Amino acid sequence: MPDQKQYSQTTAFLRIGLIGDPVAHSYSPRIQQAALDELNIPARYELWQTPAEHLIERVRSLCDPACLGANVTIPHKQAVLPFLDMVDPLATRIGAVNTIVHHNGYLQGYNTDAPGLLLALYEHGLGELQADGHVLLRDYTAVLLGAGGAARGAAFALIDAHVSRLIIVNRHLERAQQLAAELQQNYDGPIFTLSDPTFLIPHPSSIIINATSLGMHEDVSPLPAEVLARFNGDTFVYDMIYNPTQTHLLCQARTINLRTANGLSMLLHQGALAFTLWTGQPAPIEAMRNTLFSA
Ligand code: NAP
Repeated sequence: MPDQKQYSQTTAFLRIGLIGDPVAHSYSPRIQQAALDELNIPARYELWQTPAEHLIERVRSLCDPACLGANVTIPHKQAVLPFLDMVDPLATRIGAVNTIVHHNGYLQGYNTDAPGLLLALYEHGLGELQADGHVLLRDYTAVLLGAGGAARGAAFALIDAHVSRLIIVNRHLERAQQLAAELQQNYDGPIFTLSDPTFLIPHPSSIIINATSLGMHEDVSPLPAEVLARFNGDTFVYDMIYNPTQTHLLCQARTINLRTANGLSMLLHQGALAFTLWTGQPAPIEAMRNTLFSA
């Protein structure tokens, strides 16, 4: 990546973009352009709508000297892995890349969704931040709703944060079981899988994380209200969905006075980590936060 001196010698604008299909709904241009402008980096963050049949040529185009890299979103987070020169160990375990860094003709893949979720939870008052930037969630039980792409990142993040127990609830049980089997290779703690949330047994200090898409398009919740009501008052409910900002699940949780947050904080932190990977500079997180929360 260019250093500060190289930026000033650059005549053309540098480029970063979002690879996905669709991309128009994304808030990433807003937060990333605010960060680039705040640090006077002459770069534009663009939306790169990319159907699957054009993915390989899109990824190859990142080797252009003016390109710093890209974010990757639905549906390409898994499909990009074979096209990269290097994939970092966390992204390899998760099996998904959301950030590509271009460095001297080489493309490196990372997953910032997973650490972004942990930093978001820490910002909401959960866990301890280690000197190396890792967040620990010892003594928490994590209830993870979903076993798709976002849930996979969350699950690996949660075991890396040493949660004391992980319960994965997913409509298709075999998908949850497959994820649990992969996680168990690096984790000694108990992992339970369920397809029916009515069988959930509450534990103290629970973090309930919605990583399903339920609540994004319809006003429905992945958890029945009577199940949520079994959890005690120190339970934290995090919905990865950020649009709409108030999902049915979050409304249910607030009605019974549980602490809640939506996915904007995860979006912010995964974006800040990606920014640092592209530019080598600490992300101006308050500038990014302002543009997100003032919208
Ligand atoms: P995905 O791979 O398509 O997974 C969807 C998940 O939702 C699966 O577990 C699926 O269960 C479940 N699901 C879908 N429809 C359902 C239904 N009708 N009933 C029960 N379960 C249902 O999607 P994803 O990439 O993981 O994304 C999931 C959510 O996370 C999206 O809302 C996305 O916007 C959000 N997200 C937010 C951030 C952030 O920064 N805040 C980052 C990434 C993702 P089955 O396996 O049984 O089909």
